[in-house]
Amino acid sequence: MGDSERLEKVLGALERGEISHSRLEKELGNANEAALARRLWLERSLGVSLSSLASTILDFQELYGRNIENPIGAVQLPVGVAGPLRVEGDYARGEFYVPLATSEGALVASVNRGAKAVTLSGGARVKVVYDGMTRAPLLWTPSVVEAARLAEWARGRLEDFNRVVSTVTRHGRLVDIQPFIVGNLVWLRLVYKTGDAMGMNMATIASDRICKYIEDNYPGEARCIALSGNLCTDKKPAAINRLLGRGKYVVAEAIIKRGVALEVLKAEPEAIHYVNTAKNLLGSAVAGSMSFNAHYANIIAAVFIATGQDAAQVVESSMGFTWTELRGEDLYISVTLPSLEVGTVGGGTRLPTQREALRLMGVEGGGDPPGTNALKLAEVIAAAVLAGELSLLAAIAAGHLARAHELLGRGGLKLGRHR
Ligand code: NAP
Repeated sequence: MGDSERLEKVLGALERGEISHSRLEKELGNANEAALARRLWLERSLGVSLSSLASTILDFQELYGRNIENPIGAVQLPVGVAGPLRVEGDYARGEFYVPLATSEGALVASVNRGAKAVTLSGGARVKVVYDGMTRAPLLWTPSVVEAARLAEWARGRLEDFNRVVSTVTRHGRLVDIQPFIVGNLVWLRLVYKTGDAMGMNMATIASDRICKYIEDNYPGEARCIALSGNLCTDKKPAAINRLLGRGKYVVAEAIIKRGVALEVLKAEPEAIHYVNTAKNLLGSAVAGSMSFNAHYANIIAAVFIATGQDAAQVVESSMGFTWTELRGEDLYISVTLPSLEVGTVGGGTRLPTQREALRLMGVEGGGDPPGTNALKLAEVIAAAVLAGELSLLAAIAAGHLARAHELLGRGGLKLGRHR
């Protein structure tokens, strides 16, 4: 039977409800053909055209079972670049171009302007002050007495637990055990170094083995209720991540010279400082916000999408504080991101366009030694967040915000066509 005949037969079976569309990969033995059949079936049964979704360089044979189920195609977003951005970190040193995937007009221009101001002022100093990915299994015990005993017992088991961890990962290593007790329940917030991986799969698999070890070896009554007990905390805004850190706890700072602020940002340091205090600090406090910043999520989301990070982790990765001080005539500004969850291997970092975006910053794949690429990426992202924050605060201080959006976000800036 020819390819098109086979396709028509499968489409007929789908239409008659004889097979489920989620079984197409098994039925056809090829994920690209399955994606085509699924899309054609949707187009026919819903009367819609999906020709743009169909246009992709992705090979679903590579991605099926790792990155996607029920594929029908791919979406595209424009990617812009901000830079050069001078970064003086422990891992990222020099000038970087930061890829931003977004459909929000004015965002790339704003980060680019901030990058210019930061770079002209000598660059962003960046430090990762803490590094640890967490999973917090929830364990049931019969009483608070047993809960306290279990917490104490587990705290002293780092070496034993690490022997278990080493059976499932080469790069993952347990570095801390943080117990929390409520009534008779115990959460063990397990903290891992995960090399260049963001580490959520790694930490989850390792924590599963640790839970089994506890159930088999703890000399008392303890049962694992949930592998994730929500004190991790993954993909939800949470004070625990803000205080204790999750992923990379990273700080970027710069001193913006007065001349640069006036020339590039069109705003006085005093005005930027006042806007930060009134808006980011007081405004966020009044709102009861988890986050005391102007728009970290804009930069985080755009870099995450461009580089294949887990987009849902924008939630906690964009929590943080912007702090400003007047230093004589100049402006000190810092951004603190306590929960920046990034990797250069695993997940979406293996997709072809995302790999190129990582390559642009010199952080594609595993680092040498392992872990250094992810740390470097975290430093560059924090510096880009600093640039974006500075630019937006300055735009507000100078009263330019609405004008920039009118010009760049609503098609106000028309470019002549090249003939
Ligand atoms: P992963 O791809 O599951 O694990 C990383 C893999 O890369 C491991 O097999 C590791 O080997 C290998 N590796 C090779 N070189 C490495 C290096 N230099 N550093 C670190 N690892 C290296 O990725 P992950 O970061 O753990 O998990 C990311 C995925 O988890 C994303 O797709 C995300 O969407 C998803 N996620 C999962 C959960 C969950 O609960 N499971 C939650 C949120 C997100 P070794 O293990 O042998 O070291």
